[in-house]
Amino acid sequence: MKESGRTVSLMWVPSHCGIKNNEDVDKAARMIANSNEYEDVPLHLGDLKNFDKTKEISDWQTLWKETNAKLRCLKPSVNKRISPLKLTRKEQVVLTRLRIGHTKITHLYLLLGEQQPLCITCQTKLTVQHILVECPKYEETRRQHNITGAMNEILCDDRRTLSNMMTFLKATNIIDEI
Ligand SMILES: [Zn+2]
Repeated sequence: MKESGRTVSLMWVPSHCGIKNNEDVDKAARMIANSNEYEDVPLHLGDLKNFDKTKEISDWQTLWKETNAKLRCLKPSVNKRISPLKLTRKEQVVLTRLRIGHTKITHLYLLLGEQQPLCITCQTKLTVQHILVECPKYEETRRQHNITGAMNEILCDDRRTLSNMMTFLKATNIIDEI
């Protein structure tokens, strides 16, 4: 494999995985784990190919996708250039800033060389998360506009959710400070 110029990354797969010659693979993996000699481990390419075919790997990938479902909610399609929400330019800017967590109200102090602003109500550092999720000052307004859940939920690409977010920002006059 070394001579053929292939680069192989090995990953521990617990227990028996239904791999042909499982014992040989296991032994080879132990050798790698216990040795500084990474290059000359006797291992058949056929065994490595079997890694790809195991059900366990497939199951792991499924689990991985499910785990990241919430993350994908933030940006369901990286190829989608045009916003399906028909947002105005200003709304797009607002949404992007909220997702990045950098807004005028939370970060303008950096440009001005001032101290980081505190929430007047809570005396904690003013962050996007604090405004949208935590601050009790906006609790009633959040409830009125159905702003509930974590950041990735309230800023996801769902038309109704984003519509609620925009009306919430307008009702609180925060929108001009984003
Ligand atoms: Zn607060």
